[in-house]
Parts: sequence; C-alpha cells; structure tokens
Amino acid sequence: MIELKHVSRLYRSDEIETTALHDISLTIRRGEFVAIMGPSGCGKSTLLNTLGTIDRPTSGQYLFDGTDLAQLPETGLAKHRAKHLGFIFQSFNLVDDLTIYENIELGLLYREGRKGSRRQAIESAMDRVGIAHRARHFPHQLSGGQQQRAAIARAIVGEPDLILADEPTGNLDTENGAQVMDILRGLNAAGATIIMVTHSPSHADQATRRIDILDGQLVASVAQVL
Ligand code: ADP
Ligand code: ADP
Repeated sequence: MIELKHVSRLYRSDEIETTALHDISLTIRRGEFVAIMGPSGCGKSTLLNTLGTIDRPTSGQYLFDGTDLAQLPETGLAKHRAKHLGFIFQSFNLVDDLTIYENIELGLLYREGRKGSRRQAIESAMDRVGIAHRARHFPHQLSGGQQQRAAIARAIVGEPDLILADEPTGNLDTENGAQVMDILRGLNAAGATIIMVTHSPSHADQATRRIDILDGQLVASVAQVL
C-alpha cells in the first residue's frame, strides 16, 4: 500500500536547519497495524504527517498504491486524503460549537452522497464506537474517552482504508485508553490499515509491527505476534 523511498524532511528557519526525517525507506502492506515509537522530537509526527500528505518530503518518493504522491498538486492530495485517509489526534480536535453528530458529519465533507446514505453512515460510525446516545450533545458535555470515540467516528465515517493516529491514547486514562485500543484493533481486524504514534509500550504491543525512530532515522522495524 505504502512505499517510502529515501524520504528526508528538512526544516529551515533563519539560519537553522533541522533534519526531522533522514533517508527513511519503508514499506507498509494493506492490513498492517503499525506502531511508531521514539523519544520526543525524533520525527514521529513529521513521519505521520508525511504519510498523511499534510507535510511533503524535501526529497524522496512516497508511493501509495503505486502513485507518487510527492508529484501531486495540492488539489490531488486533498482528493487523496478525502478518499483514503482518516486522522485521529491526541487532543481529539472536535469543533466546540458543533454537536457530536455534526462533528462526525465533517468526516464526509468532501464526499459525495445523498442525505439518507450520509445519515446512515454517520449513525453506523457512532454505533461502532458506542457514542450514538451522545449525537445531540456538544463536545464539552462528554468525557475525554467519549470525545476521542467521537473523533474516531469522524475519522472512519468515510470508510478510509488508512487510519493515521497521533498518540490517540495520550490524553486518556488507562480504561479509556484500553477502549480506544480495542476500537482500533477492531477496525484493523475489519480491514483498515492503521499507523499509530504512541509512547505506550503496552499499546504498541497490540500492533502487528513496531517501528522505532531515533533522530529522524528508522532504527528498527519488528513484526509482532499477537
Ligand atoms: P516528534 O513527533 O517525535 O516529537 P517531530 O516530528 O514533531 O518529533 O519533530 C522532529 C524535529 O523537527 C524536531 O527537532 C522539531 O523541533 C523539528 N520540527 C518539527 N516541526 C517543525 C517546524 N514546523 N519547523 C521547524 N522545525 C520543526
Ligand atoms: P464513558 O464510560 O461512556 O466514557 P465516563 O465514565 O467517562 O463515560 O463518564 C460518565 C458520564 O460523566 C458521562 O455520561 C459523561 O458525559 C460525563 N462526564 C465525564 N466527564 C465529563 C466532563 N469532563 N464534562 C462533562 N461531563 C463529563
């Protein structure tokens, strides 16, 4: 599904140059659940944002099902994201003044579809994460665990084949973190490819592969038996 070839990402500000990613080559097959680990500042978010086409490599190739995304203009990337990708963040990123239902609807913003089928997709996504009874509530009326589950519903409502999660359990207690991991494993079992940045070794253990990053370089990639 994904092939990174010699991907580097440099940040330049004033006279200072930072190499966030250095010569990363990586293949991810459909159906994998990949955990990315590494110390703060090592390049995990840059790697995830690159995979999510929110950030562009300074050099190297990013092949997605054989298409080099590094060559696509921004409009092509927006289409690619709408069709293939779902994003989950550490701090949920729900819109405060929209209801949970409307927040999840945002996941269909760039998707075609009649009103009835959109409503069905939203209700089915809410059911999958156990948040249907909160449809008319606003984010601040929900617990952190519920907010993250709503954010997962927003990410999956368009049925993406790749889910990118940046520390999805980082702001949650043990129990809610475990719930989120159960949902992610369920989505993976149902066919979604998942790439997740995490600081939690016990959550990384639940992935089918673990990748370690250090100083912008890939230092280990280990398949895990569950
Ligand atoms: P991590 O997610 O592992 O904490 P990041 O990918 O956020 O690491 O950052 C990797 C390196 O790139 C760090 O040294 C960081 O300071 C630098 N960096 C990240 N984003 C930017 C930016 N927009 N401008 C300049 N430097 C950046
Ligand atoms: P769940 O098990 O469904 O995640 P919780 O046990 O986290 O629910 O929360 C129990 C109830 O308390 C929920 O109905 C939730 O709406 C409410 N609640 C929890 N935390 C907050 C909060 N910070 N603000 C408002 N309501 C909250």
